Amino acid sequence: MNIHEYQAKEVLRSFGVPVPQGFPAMTIEEAAEAAGRLPGPVYVVKAQIHAGGRGKGKFKELAADAKGGVRLAKSFVDIRADAAEMLGNTLVTLQTGAAGKQVNRLYVEDGSEIEKEFYLSLLIDRATSRVSFVVSTEGGMDIEQVAHDTPEKIVTFSVDPATGIMPHHGRRVAKALGLEGELAKQAHALTQKLYTAFIAKDMEMLEINPLIVSRGGALKCLDAKLGFDSNALARHPDIAAMRDETEEDAKEIEASKYDLSYIALDGSIGCMVNGAGLAMATMDIIKFYGAEPANFLDVGGGATAEKVTAAFKIITSDPNVKGILVNIFGGIMRCDVIAEGVIAAVKEVGLKVPLVVRLEGTNVELGKKIIGESGLNVIAADDLDDAARKIVKAVGGGH
Ligand code: ADP
Ligand code: MG
Repeated sequence: MNIHEYQAKEVLRSFGVPVPQGFPAMTIEEAAEAAGRLPGPVYVVKAQIHAGGRGKGKFKELAADAKGGVRLAKSFVDIRADAAEMLGNTLVTLQTGAAGKQVNRLYVEDGSEIEKEFYLSLLIDRATSRVSFVVSTEGGMDIEQVAHDTPEKIVTFSVDPATGIMPHHGRRVAKALGLEGELAKQAHALTQKLYTAFIAKDMEMLEINPLIVSRGGALKCLDAKLGFDSNALARHPDIAAMRDETEEDAKEIEASKYDLSYIALDGSIGCMVNGAGLAMATMDIIKFYGAEPANFLDVGGGATAEKVTAAFKIITSDPNVKGILVNIFGGIMRCDVIAEGVIAAVKEVGLKVPLVVRLEGTNVELGKKIIGESGLNVIAADDLDDAARKIVKAVGGGH
């Protein structure tokens, strides 16, 4: 689960991490009030969306040369004007995709005078089963470009969980950033605090870009992006309460209510499959025949008819879906249950696109019989290959 920048800064602040002062705002009035509580004379108005690249982003509704989603402001008049331009409008950044994201919240922050901009992140390295630090002197808005063009400017090391964070890790961060004296000391302390926060809150990702040296000689986190392990959220009600469902895919939220593993994708073929491996294979073979899956969906091993109905409804609610492929291998899951679920869903929401069903395994004959007698316009398939070919043909895709 991801949270907004202002929430991330609140979490980090509670661990003693240096972040600028700031307040969230949902309206123009609140933005002006927030600025009134800050020392000034420079303020920063920041769009709060679950995506980076806001500074260089563009608003769909504004002129092409209008300012982006992170704006310096020097007066209350400017703050009101910026808030008016941002709230309710759609910000498109390199990370949002072409559709962009609507800005519903702002963060009004104390403006910092920046001497240097660094990059620092912590993430879980699954290959070594450790938390890794990624540090670079080349912070700011183009870290992806740095990783691509000059990877040697990025320093990475991991922390042994048996020892936890140690003073030498702090020294390593300071060295990688070329810091000495007082600033090196601040880097040591920051390293300890960030790691402590990361572990304490079961984070998956913590990204500070930029980490700055201010003109006054202080290290400060000017941007913060945190991601949390969803499976550990039960241990952190304070973090769970920060969830902003408007930032998430409505279909994925609905799927999570039924404990379905669902990920929305960009293609045209809706897939209902049981088992993550079979789901991956189904997506692969759809691509092999020249079309694109609209989603990943694993209904699980022991799905009920109710769960299947919910899954079917989620798939059909996606306007991009031009055809549906149901591919079930009945092990624990019985084919007749799948058949009943599909029929119940079609009766409820109708079927406006071609549907290919491939069933195999437990009670397959009964499942086929139920579908055959339902009067539904279903294209039956014998195996995975046959099913993929038929659905790709039915949506008019393929090569
Ligand atoms: P994003 O990464 O989404 O573009 P950032 O929060 O990193 O958003 O802001 C983009 C840039 O704006 C930063 O690299 C920094 O140069 C500047 N900036 C952000 N916050 C402040 C601030 N409080 N004071 C001064 N400059 C800021
Ligand atoms: Mg940033």
